[in-house]
Amino acid sequence: MNRGESGAVAHAVKGPEPRVPELEIPCLERGAEPKGVGKLQNNRSGAELGEPGVRVFKLKTKSVRGKLKEFYDMLTSLLPRDELPKSAFRYRREWENSFIEVIHSRLATGKWLRPAKKRENRRKRVKRKSSIPKRPPFLLTARFILSSGEQRGRRDAPVVVDLRRREVRIPRIGVAVPIPERLARALEEENRLEPRPEFVVQLCSDGRLRIIAKRAPEPRALEVPLRIIAVDENSRYGFVVAVFDFDERGYCRLTRFEVFKPPNHGHREGIVAALKSYADKPGLEALERVRELLPFTPTPDDAERLARAALARKKRLNNAFIETLVAGVRELVRGALQEGAAVAIVVDPINSESLQGTPLQGTLLRVRERLRNLARYEGAHFAELRASGRYCPFCGAEGVENGHRVFKCPSCGATWDRDRAAVANLVLRYLKALYREECQDADPLRLVDAMRAWLKRHIGFLLR
Ligand SMILES: [Zn+2]
Repeated sequence: MNRGESGAVAHAVKGPEPRVPELEIPCLERGAEPKGVGKLQNNRSGAELGEPGVRVFKLKTKSVRGKLKEFYDMLTSLLPRDELPKSAFRYRREWENSFIEVIHSRLATGKWLRPAKKRENRRKRVKRKSSIPKRPPFLLTARFILSSGEQRGRRDAPVVVDLRRREVRIPRIGVAVPIPERLARALEEENRLEPRPEFVVQLCSDGRLRIIAKRAPEPRALEVPLRIIAVDENSRYGFVVAVFDFDERGYCRLTRFEVFKPPNHGHREGIVAALKSYADKPGLEALERVRELLPFTPTPDDAERLARAALARKKRLNNAFIETLVAGVRELVRGALQEGAAVAIVVDPINSESLQGTPLQGTLLRVRERLRNLARYEGAHFAELRASGRYCPFCGAEGVENGHRVFKCPSCGATWDRDRAAVANLVLRYLKALYREECQDADPLRLVDAMRAWLKRHIGFLLR
C-alpha cells in the first residue's frame, strides 16, 4: 500500500462498520455469512467447509476508550513501531487484508465515490451515515489465566484475560478492564471445552474490545443416542422449540417443549411513527396523533428523542429475545453432548414472503443464523427443512380441516392441531431425509417408528 494514500484513508474513516460480530454479553455469537436455504443442509459440512462457529464476548471499555483508541492507532500506524513487541502484530497482515477488502467492496459498489447524503433534517443530532467505512478491527492474541491459576494461550500475547482477578489487561498500555462475573464464568467454561476454542481479542478503532472464540468440532455421527432439537419459526406464536431424545434402544421421548415469544412491537411502532412525523412536520394534526398515544405533550425535539429511545428499546428487546433463545438451545446442545449423544438442530424457516417488512423479519433471520453458527461451534448437525402441519404425522396423508387449525386424517382417522403437527413432522421429515441421504441405512426409519410410537402414546401432544 502506498503510504500517503493509506494514511489518508486511515484518518478519514468513519461510517458503517465492516462485518463484525456484535451482540450483547455474555452469550453473543454471530454466524458467518448467510447461506442459501438448502433442502437438507447437514452441518457436518460446517467443519469441512473450514468455517468455524464463533462466540463473541463484549467487554465494557468506556472508561478506557481513549487509551484503547490510541493503542489501535499505534498498531495500525505505518510509522515505525519499535516500542511495541512483535507479538502485538501477529495479525497485522489480516488487518491490512480486511481493510483492503473493505475498500474494494466499497469501490465495487460505487459507494466510495458518493458524497455523504445531505439530510434535510435541520436538527444536528440526526446521525448522518458517512459514505466512508470504518477501519476494521485489529486482532490480538490473548493469554488466559484460569481461576485455578492454570494458564492457556500464548505466553507473549499482548492481552491477558485474567479470570482469577476478573480483568482483561493490556500491560503495554496500562489498561485493565473488569470482567463481570457472568462473563468470567462463561469464559472459564469455554476454556474447558474439548477441543478448546481458538481465542482472539478484537480491538475496534473506536476503542471497543471483544473476545472472540472460534471452534469447529466434528459433529458426532448421527446415531443413537440422538437429540433432535426442532425449531419451528411461527409468526403467530414465536419460536416453538421441541426436543426429542432417542436412546440407545431406539426409544423416543419428548424432553422439552417451549415456546419463545418474540417481543411485540406493534404499539411501540405506532408511537414511533407518530413521534417521527410530529418531529419532522410539527403540525396540529401530527400533534393530535401524538396526544392520543401519550399522556403528555412533547415538543418536536422531545418527540425526536423519544422516538430514538423507543427504537433503541425495541432493538434491546429483540436482542434479549435472541440471546435467551440461543442460550436455551446451547444448553440443550451441551447437555446432550455431555451425555455422549449426537445432536441435530432442525429449523423450519418461516415463509419469508409472509414476513416481508414485518418488524420480526430481521429478528427471525438473525435467530436462524445464530443457530447455524451455534451448531458449528458446538459440534451439532444443522438442517433447514420445511414441514407442514397439514399432513398426518402417522401416515403422511393430507388432513382435512376439522375445526380451527385442527385437522383430521381421512386415511387413519388421527386428529391433530396444526401447529403441533408441524413440529412433529419437522422431526419426522429430518429422519426420513437422513434415511435417504445416509446410504439407506435403516436406522433413521426405526427412529421414525419410535417417534410415531411416542406420539401414539401421548396423543395429547398433538392436540394440546
Ligand atoms: Zn393418518
